[in-house]
Amino acid sequence: MTNQYEVVIGLEVHVELKTQTKLFCGCANAFGQDPNSQTCPVCLGMPGVLPVLNGEAVALATRAALALHCTVNSHSKFDRKQYFYPDLPKAYQISQYDQPLAENGHVTIQTSIGKRDIGIERIHMEEDAGKLNHLGQRLGDAEGSLVDLNRAGVPLIEIVSRPEMHSPEEARQYLVELRTILSYLEISDLRMEEGSMRCDANVSLRPLDYTGSLADLPRVEIKNVNSFRNVQRGIEFEIGRQRQLLQTGQRIVKETRGFDDASGSTYSQRSKEEANDYRYFPEPDLPPLVLSETWLQDQREALPQLPDELRQYLAQRGVAERDAEVLVQDLNLYHYWAQVVELVPDVRLVTNWLLSDYSRLVNAKGLSFAAPKVNAGGLASLLSLIISGTLSGKMAKEVLETMFETGETAEAVVKRLGLIQITDHNAIKEIVSAVVTANPAVVQDFLSGKEKALAFLVGQVMKQTKGQAKPDLVNALLREVLATYA
Ligand code: ZN
Ligand code: MN
Repeated sequence: MTNQYEVVIGLEVHVELKTQTKLFCGCANAFGQDPNSQTCPVCLGMPGVLPVLNGEAVALATRAALALHCTVNSHSKFDRKQYFYPDLPKAYQISQYDQPLAENGHVTIQTSIGKRDIGIERIHMEEDAGKLNHLGQRLGDAEGSLVDLNRAGVPLIEIVSRPEMHSPEEARQYLVELRTILSYLEISDLRMEEGSMRCDANVSLRPLDYTGSLADLPRVEIKNVNSFRNVQRGIEFEIGRQRQLLQTGQRIVKETRGFDDASGSTYSQRSKEEANDYRYFPEPDLPPLVLSETWLQDQREALPQLPDELRQYLAQRGVAERDAEVLVQDLNLYHYWAQVVELVPDVRLVTNWLLSDYSRLVNAKGLSFAAPKVNAGGLASLLSLIISGTLSGKMAKEVLETMFETGETAEAVVKRLGLIQITDHNAIKEIVSAVVTANPAVVQDFLSGKEKALAFLVGQVMKQTKGQAKPDLVNALLREVLATYA
């Protein structure tokens, strides 16, 4: 048997849909309310109640499926997945088993060797379970557990990838891109800390000489990790653990493992269930879900611009790929960018300013582009002063900082501080000559070929003009004066 293995990773992502009401009843779908205040006989699993499917949830799930390039099935159905756990009042979860809502999509990720599509096997709809609050650190030493069923019946989609990722980094990229796409749809809060997006990772190692099917490889599922970084860490740990077991001739046990944040390790929770442990059968209280072509067309038309379309647009506008990615990842930032570009059509200048100095100030002051301190018009006027030559880049930085502090307009700051760039040829030449005369040693250095000496002289001129001399003019005049020494 070989010592070489290929890492095989598949991800199952649960996403809570941001509907008004729960999936099968009229209770509010609201996070952070008093325990058990958002419940009714249906989501409490009382005998004799009947579920009614929430159309808004179907619409949001369908849009997610379309945005992820899935085929949406015109016929799907709901099934009961039986398992016993105190957070599941009916002792079964209504889910979709053999006829899911959607199949065969993909998410495109950027790897070291270019773009690659990671397949999505299926997307199905299901209800969430409630929440257990253990009184103590861990379940094992808890004095008791409290059940909160506010979350029971909240609509979820489960997005199941194909086992097509081969490194922890690829898994993280898949998650980042998946979340970016879903964030454009505004169908979910997508907060991993609050559980509105949850990820389980299936990890196995395939010996390079293995020829059997991937499904037969012993795989370990890491459950409910609470951040992208921890998904990556958990997978990293799991790869190391499994490799060591295989290399010492031991077997990998098919099981579900938890992730411990503090130690970065995974620990055994239970042996993994097989599908037939759940005794799936069709939900008798719900009719099949049938979607008409016109309704599907409406959902297609309701899709907003998606990340890939935005990437294409930004490339057309001449935005560098790395900068474009920053804009794509933050729609508030992109909308701000678009407003400034509308006013100042110098795309390069706007992008540079926005992603460097402006973003630095926003981050340093803990602000956000959702409610910008300096609005797009304000930044546009500042940039216009650079284009007109009134301000040098360095002066503009100062002005911007002041704008952030005082809320003044660029023009007001310039006027108050007397910050007008010196573009007067003669005025600058005088200072240049004085600087050259005062620094004979540096001038010698320059004349003997040390280009760096010039930067020092430029610096001296800028210092004497308090940074208000036009830098390219200073440069040109210095070279002119130095030429007379050669
Ligand atoms: Zn309810
Ligand atoms: Mn599920």
